[in-house]
Amino acid sequence: MTVPFPLPAVAPETETFWTGGADGRLRITACNACDHRIHPPQLICPRCLSRDVEARPASGKGTVATFTINRQAWVPGLAVPYAIGIVELDDQPGVRITARILAETVECVAIGAAVEVAFEKNDDVFIPVFRLV
Ligand SMILES: [Zn+2]
Repeated sequence: MTVPFPLPAVAPETETFWTGGADGRLRITACNACDHRIHPPQLICPRCLSRDVEARPASGKGTVATFTINRQAWVPGLAVPYAIGIVELDDQPGVRITARILAETVECVAIGAAVEVAFEKNDDVFIPVFRLV
């Protein structure tokens, strides 16, 4: 699905996050000094203040921490209903991504459900979404 919303602005610290889907890999910034995963991407580790950070491939697997179902077509072309959730990645507790949750029907989405990343290409940006597994 092509999302009829403005695409995210790609900054140096977020480029690998938004373009990593080109090869199907979710990339999360990690600190090389303390191994802490950082999301949203930042140029400085909030845990140890090191500037030695880089984007690393993540597992792409996680759990639905919470979600909501949107039933309102806020913009023309928006297919409803759809689920948007906060996914906690398996890579590190507390690393969470807000994304659409893809399921056969929105009623299938549940807190605690296992999910796996997929990507929707929009121009040069690959929007992470998660599918139920
Ligand atoms: Zn660190």
